[in-house]
Amino acid sequence: MTQNERTLAIIKPDAVADGHAGAILTLIEKAGFKILAMRMMHLNRQQAEGFYDVHRGKPFFESLVKFMTEGRIIVLALERENAILKWREVMGATNPVNAAEGTIRKLYGASIERNAAHGSDAPETADYELRYFFSSVDLLP
Ligand code: ATP
Ligand code: MG
Repeated sequence: MTQNERTLAIIKPDAVADGHAGAILTLIEKAGFKILAMRMMHLNRQQAEGFYDVHRGKPFFESLVKFMTEGRIIVLALERENAILKWREVMGATNPVNAAEGTIRKLYGASIERNAAHGSDAPETADYELRYFFSSVDLLP
């Protein structure tokens, strides 16, 4: 039996502002993810800093927080078999220059920072990130 897994995805401010949200949602569905929950929001500084807390102190932290607060984002709870790895595959490498053809970051990313999408990187972070944005009733099967 295959085990479903959940991951937290974000369509970042660059992709929303550029009008790529619909295309990215289509890619999500074509890749076989079930959208369990979805929310559009505009993060404030505190919310963005909290989300990217693991990167606090890194040289790009300040700029990343500024980017993530510049406009609306779409936060999604996604489910499928092997969701964490699969979503990272659909997004492509962090730096669009290194991302494979057809991936979201290759299609819509402009730089290593403005790279159109986010995905959790492990079961523990997925858990933390899903709870960061959604309540348990949103995530019922
Ligand atoms: P994400 O966590 O957003 O899914 P990722 O796991 O591929 O991306 P991380 O190393 O977790 O990459 O970095 C988080 C985000 O910080 C990146 O998606 C990107 O927006 C930004 N970032 C990462 N490295 C750099 C860098 N060297 N310069 C500028 N921004 C960066
Ligand atoms: Mg990451």
